[in-house]
Amino acid sequence: MQLIKYNNLVMNEGGKHLQRGMNFGIMGSYSVVLMSVEKNSPYADEMLENGIIKYEGHDQEKVSKELKKSLDQPIANKSGTLTQNGKFLQAVEQFKEGKREPAKIKVYRKIRAGIWVDMGFYNLIDGFKEHDGNRYVFKFLLKPNFDNFKPEESDYIDMEHNRYIPGDVMQKVFERDGGKCVMCGETDNLHYDHKIPFSKGGSSKDEKNIQILCARHNLSKGDKLVY
Ligand SMILES: [Zn+2]
Repeated sequence: MQLIKYNNLVMNEGGKHLQRGMNFGIMGSYSVVLMSVEKNSPYADEMLENGIIKYEGHDQEKVSKELKKSLDQPIANKSGTLTQNGKFLQAVEQFKEGKREPAKIKVYRKIRAGIWVDMGFYNLIDGFKEHDGNRYVFKFLLKPNFDNFKPEESDYIDMEHNRYIPGDVMQKVFERDGGKCVMCGETDNLHYDHKIPFSKGGSSKDEKNIQILCARHNLSKGDKLVY
């Protein structure tokens, strides 16, 4: 999983400055969502045990901060056009009716200000309303897309689930390693690396098994494992 700076995120997505978390169809063939694992993040996004992301829909826009968190999340704007929630929900319905493939969603996870992790592609497989104890919110289920699955890195699909590093572990490792490669101090093109690979039983949940490596050291390590 690659660590990137916001500028690189923008470059990845064709120079588009993403101002909001949900961007349905922004790239034509796919959508982009931003999620945060910071304690003060505005939305309750979760990473489930099997690698599925439970992504919370977004609040009513253009109302006060207090009102935002007390109003039900909207499916349509006053003009009748669909909100981002509505667009995601419509894609889910069409998928369930067999009218389309699941919408492809590119996920970026914010680790701290200006630092993101490229989580790759997910399929939008479900969406529903849920009461959060206060009001109704939308929840969307994003399933990891195994089109990018690299069989040489894992023996079984089940193993693949174990490579998902929880957000709090990502944050702790970033702090501990000072946001740079532990081998050479490089601060660009960084990756989260499993010291013991997940395919060999190494844990993703134990921060002691995760470190930050630059692209060069990440690759050279890969070579050693193969030969
Ligand atoms: Zn390095």
